[in-house]
Amino acid sequence: MTEVRTGFDEALERLPKVELHCHVEGTMRPGTVMELARANGIPLPATEVTELYRYTSLDEFLSVFWLVQSVLVKRADWARLAYESVVDAAAHGRVYAEVFFTPARHLAGGQRLEDIVAGLHEGLAAGEAETGSRAMLIADIDRAYGPAAGLLLVQEVVGLRRRNTPGAERILGIGMDSTELGVDPASFREAYELAGRSGLRRTGHQGENSPPSAIATLVDVLGAERVDHGLSIMEDPALVERFALERIPLTVCPNSNIRIANAYPALADHCFPGMRRAGLLATLNTDDPALTDLDLGYEYRSVAEAFGYTWSDMVQIALDGVEASWLDPADRTALRRRITDEAAALQPG
Ligand SMILES: [Zn+2]
Repeated sequence: MTEVRTGFDEALERLPKVELHCHVEGTMRPGTVMELARANGIPLPATEVTELYRYTSLDEFLSVFWLVQSVLVKRADWARLAYESVVDAAAHGRVYAEVFFTPARHLAGGQRLEDIVAGLHEGLAAGEAETGSRAMLIADIDRAYGPAAGLLLVQEVVGLRRRNTPGAERILGIGMDSTELGVDPASFREAYELAGRSGLRRTGHQGENSPPSAIATLVDVLGAERVDHGLSIMEDPALVERFALERIPLTVCPNSNIRIANAYPALADHCFPGMRRAGLLATLNTDDPALTDLDLGYEYRSVAEAFGYTWSDMVQIALDGVEASWLDPADRTALRRRITDEAAALQPG
């Protein structure tokens, strides 16, 4: 590591960054998992949570993700999680995020969506007040619970927004995550149509473990405006060309793809630079930072190093995060200006 590289890394850490693919449950600190499990009487299979945070497949990761979710019982638990997620991300230069929460398991267990959203809102607001880093919410459907539960979630989100319950205005849109194997995204059409009619934005995880045709279905049948991961798009040059032309964003998580799904042997083998060379609006995100020992500063540093990106390449990636966001036009302009100005001041020699 040269002196210049250190300055470069430091500047990347401080560069104002946007994150559009981060699961709030995946930000849970190992210590918080243990404390909440103890307080709520949830048995953990290992004493060291960090031992749990190792995976060889997406489905193995999901079983740990579900275990971590299970320690969230009370409204205060959601608030603590949300607060810590903002504080931890802000420490690495995240200034704005649209964060997923996936409440299917909790709703099935008897928790009320209204309480979950109110708790998340309370924690996010406290984190924002302390750091100035903003976070909005995306309510994710858990595919494993099926289309009926997905529709019910969207109906409930629409209901909260209509009644303007605490935190409801933070929910910008809906998404869909969890297992992709053997699930036809079109089966969630009713939920996505209701979301669209109700003024909610739409995204969805696809193409991490499913073919490019599933990505096309997400956009064409479900009306998704963004695609989370979207890796398999690279197998379909025509679809790549269309996404590039229409500037349909992909929220890509290169390090997560290696640590969770083992989709690539090493970062250098990831398709992220290929995506950007093809003109795709491919943004950079951490996915589940605590569960995979990542942060957004590391994500930027490691990607810059693996692909030889310059400072201006990295600033463009940060700006692409703004373009891909669901911020309104005035906030978008302001954030773009902030990133440009601070990038100029931070520019490493
Ligand atoms: Zn994800």
